[in-house]
Amino acid sequence: MKPIIEKELCIGDGICEDICPQVFKLKDDGFAHVLDKNPDSDFWSAVEEAVRECPTDAIVLEAYGPEEELAA
Ligand code: SF4
Repeated sequence: MKPIIEKELCIGDGICEDICPQVFKLKDDGFAHVLDKNPDSDFWSAVEEAVRECPTDAIVLEAYGPEEELAA
């Protein structure tokens, strides 16, 4: 999966970083950024939790790869 942050929706509360700091980081510009665009599957459940917990639905997941396409 490939997490993407829609910057125009991000309010910079850092919830995603609290949940999964390996993948998300709040930077000096006040917005969350994706540190790891291809997170290991060990982090997928945390990334999905961040998607659910983001108050503005600013995190979008793009599926890619044959396995995920089949699962979709
Ligand atoms: S949880 Fe959502 S709104 Fe909050 S910093 Fe992360 S992307 Fe931005």
